[in-house]
Amino acid sequence: MFSTQQRTFSLTNARLFVAKLHKLSERYVSLSSSNLFSSKGVTTTLFPEFEKDNTLDIHQNLYDYSINSSETFWATLARSRLKWSKEFSQKSEEDAPVNCVDRHLEKNGDDVALIWEKDEPGTEEFITYRQLSEMVNKMSNVLKRHGVGKGDPVAIYLPTTPMAVAAMLACARIGAIHNVVFAGFSAGSLSDRIKNAKAETVITADEGIRGGKKIPLKAVVDDAVKLSGCVKRVFVYRRTKRDVPMTDVDFDLEKEMESESIECKPEEMNSEDYLFMLYTSGSTGKPKGLAHSTAGYLLYAGMTQKHVFDYKQGERFGCVADIGWITGHSYVVYGPLFNGGTTVLFESTPVYPDPGRYWEMVERLKLQHIYLAPTALRMLLKEGKSWVTKYDRSTLRKLGCVGEPLNREAFDWYNVVVGDRKADVVDTWWQTETGGITISPRPSEEGAEILPAMPMRPFFGIKPALVDKNGVELQGNNVMGALCINSCWPGMARTIYGDHQRFIDTYFKPFKGYYFSGDGAVRDKQGYYRITGRMDDVLNVSGHRLGTAEIEDVIGVHVISGVASSSSDFRDFRSLLEQLVPPLGAYVISGIASFSSDFKEFMSLLEQLVPTQV
Ligand code: AMP
Repeated sequence: MFSTQQRTFSLTNARLFVAKLHKLSERYVSLSSSNLFSSKGVTTTLFPEFEKDNTLDIHQNLYDYSINSSETFWATLARSRLKWSKEFSQKSEEDAPVNCVDRHLEKNGDDVALIWEKDEPGTEEFITYRQLSEMVNKMSNVLKRHGVGKGDPVAIYLPTTPMAVAAMLACARIGAIHNVVFAGFSAGSLSDRIKNAKAETVITADEGIRGGKKIPLKAVVDDAVKLSGCVKRVFVYRRTKRDVPMTDVDFDLEKEMESESIECKPEEMNSEDYLFMLYTSGSTGKPKGLAHSTAGYLLYAGMTQKHVFDYKQGERFGCVADIGWITGHSYVVYGPLFNGGTTVLFESTPVYPDPGRYWEMVERLKLQHIYLAPTALRMLLKEGKSWVTKYDRSTLRKLGCVGEPLNREAFDWYNVVVGDRKADVVDTWWQTETGGITISPRPSEEGAEILPAMPMRPFFGIKPALVDKNGVELQGNNVMGALCINSCWPGMARTIYGDHQRFIDTYFKPFKGYYFSGDGAVRDKQGYYRITGRMDDVLNVSGHRLGTAEIEDVIGVHVISGVASSSSDFRDFRSLLEQLVPPLGAYVISGIASFSSDFKEFMSLLEQLVPTQV
């Protein structure tokens, strides 16, 4: 790790960079969508917008154009792929649910939007675009009736369910800013996020259910409401129908929705209005609420889902992330729905009821795409390949992963055992801040090589830069440095909610004129990128960034004493724990105690504790 503190920094430069991003989004122009994907293109997924330009005849030329003529490149795509409510003006209007639901209704209302892969295998439910639209509109009307409106933050603490997707889109429809908090965080972490966002509204469920275990969400919310002191209303979705105590501020969400109309006019949104904020951990402990814009984020999530995975209409997209993380936002909800696709909501764990769960699901639902975390792969490969090979995976075309470096062994297993060498493995590097995938092997030239253990190629409009400890950009190949981005892209977060100075200081101050990701990377001799890991003290656990604040919060509740008398004991211990709480699997072990005699008691404590804490 090297220090970046000696650098002098001009804030003007960073502000110019952010201002340029704003300007870029303001230039988006209004046009309705058309059939975009039926003609030939120059890269793995077709780009009809640019096919008439003879100079953009190969992937590299199109990439260069996206960097050198970035504003025209993105404006062209915004014009053709986003639906705007009227012609462009300084306040051009666009709405996320209109782009993700309404515009698919007329022709494709009966297409499946969501496949709810519930915790118990074989109990899946299918929700069409029309049904989703009705849920969204009814919930929007409920929120409006309770006084929630444009610009109001709404905390969502829900398991990955259709109701959670409807809650996100309902907020977007009325212009409220959703703040999804992973439904596994403790009351302390939830109340910190509620307080920081000044949210008066919370949407939650009686209980979550994961890996056969019930998670008492409403009880956590009750504590968080007491701690935060600013919540005026809590809507409770009856996921398990358990009788939970209701107070004066609590409302039964479905009862409230029953009497509402299935029509709700969308709030007109400026392209730069915030769509959502999402908290992620920073090296200084206090979580940061990254705020994403409406138009830019949506365009980027949709573009990357389409082009990284070569997603085609009618295919089934299985991103198994929880909606509490950015991957869930961009690749469970907004990206696939923007493209009129069918997306899976995975409510379970990779080992429930056994380590074949993912592959049994792939066979049963006939998925073309699966997108998961390397930790899950590493855990599953230890269980042996028969859990995979007994299921038919021949529908799979793309195998994605995100969250941590995908090591060689896991890459090979994914490629050979899961994909039978017939599906592309796409190791995607990106962050909460970037809004969508920024480096990944696809898109590329048709048939271009994919090498193990690296995300390789920048996405259109992304210009990576490796910078040394003196802030000097490293030229050429075979170099290693701090991974920065030296271009503007529409998916980038616009600010840290309520603390713009921290946004500037964190991302633009360390290296003048560059966005600094916090990660290190290598550009190898062929010019491909490999990520070396975080350069700060943030822990990456099962593909999720956890900072000192979340970890201290858990320690504050329970100090767990475990033991590892040798490193192999520790590995076994860790893998046992991973099976208990995948895919998050965060636990803090401190102190030394005897492992053997209290083992059963200790494990049963963890079993109760871990799923609800962190
Ligand atoms: P988050 O924003 O919480 O999703 O975490 C983003 C961080 O996860 C990045 O800054 C990286 O440290 C790590 N990360 C994400 N994707 C990859 C990847 N493909 N390879 C290596 N590290 C990754």
